[in-house]
Amino acid sequence: MRYIQGFRDGDAARALSRLIAEEADTGRDYHLMEFCGGHTHAVFRHGIPDLLPGNINLVHGPGCPVCVLPVARLDLAIELAGRENIILASYGDMLRVPASRRDSLLNARSRGRDVRVVQSAVEALELAQQHPDHQVVLFAIGFETTTPPTALAIQQAAALDLPNFSVYCNHVLTPSAIQAILDSPEVRQLGQVRVDGFLGPSHVSTIIGSGPYEFFAEEYQRPVVIAGFEPLDVLASIRMLVRQLNEGRAEVENQFTRGVSRAGNEKAKNMVADVFELRPEFAWRGLGTVPYSGLRIKRQYQRFDAEKRFGLVAKDVRENQACQCPAVIRGVKKPTDCEIFGTVCTPRNPIGSCMVSDEGACAAYYRYRRYSEAI
Ligand code: SF4
Repeated sequence: MRYIQGFRDGDAARALSRLIAEEADTGRDYHLMEFCGGHTHAVFRHGIPDLLPGNINLVHGPGCPVCVLPVARLDLAIELAGRENIILASYGDMLRVPASRRDSLLNARSRGRDVRVVQSAVEALELAQQHPDHQVVLFAIGFETTTPPTALAIQQAAALDLPNFSVYCNHVLTPSAIQAILDSPEVRQLGQVRVDGFLGPSHVSTIIGSGPYEFFAEEYQRPVVIAGFEPLDVLASIRMLVRQLNEGRAEVENQFTRGVSRAGNEKAKNMVADVFELRPEFAWRGLGTVPYSGLRIKRQYQRFDAEKRFGLVAKDVRENQACQCPAVIRGVKKPTDCEIFGTVCTPRNPIGSCMVSDEGACAAYYRYRRYSEAI
């Protein structure tokens, strides 16, 4: 804890805030996207916007794994949980996410379906060992941080030759999402979203390294700074982005050197490469269908692929039209632009995924009271 406190020092934060204000060019604006929902929550938890000059605008990105999962794939998980003899193992955040017709995994559980909350992929594997008379399906979601544990669980299931364990794979890729944002009409043509640079995710980057972002810096001329989650990390990273933009540079810089290298974690990457391959396309909530942005289980492990084992095929569904999550995820709207934010839609009664997840932008605005002027 004492180690962490060093990154939360108030005097140091005020000093960094002064340096940013001195160095930011008053003749221009800076629009910086924090990709990761963890950063969005850190930004509000520590009052970062109040420490920045008015011409630095933080844009919230799509890096919330629960938020970007499309309703159709959540519907499939609920349908699967409704089948006989199935134990669906899910991370806790997913249970309250509204699916079609306001159904949810929590509702499925109240209907008597066997939906269990697990903290890790290996816990789901253990469930399968404890319940040999049931099919245990891990509802696997998340970016590159959670993919290696899923890969490991599948490798272990293969080593144990477990016949009753499978994975409903919804793992997605950060670089593809960043590219989808930069290629979106709102950024490229319409000018609705301005993104001058990115605060890059730190946890994801411990796995993939800082190397994959070099493409965006070069090709799209957008600087990227890999940022830690503590307030001094975030402020120092904003200062690094401001400096790059002032100097006309577009490079990848790594503020979070205590956890991220250029190459990332080779062991974890090899594990993922052994088990998963790219899907030709994956449908995201908010970003639409993005080529090569999701993972599926390789043929050699396909007996652990729940989509194949149970014949799961996603159907077209209509999103709740009142919910602005897709626009919030793309950075086009702020949560407070949604008409039902904080009134109909609250953490106790979430209408969209962005209000449920610990990494959702709407939940961050609500929890840290960035809304009093809006409702
Ligand atoms: S406030 Fe609720 S309904 Fe509105 S965008 Fe956020 S999650 Fe969706």
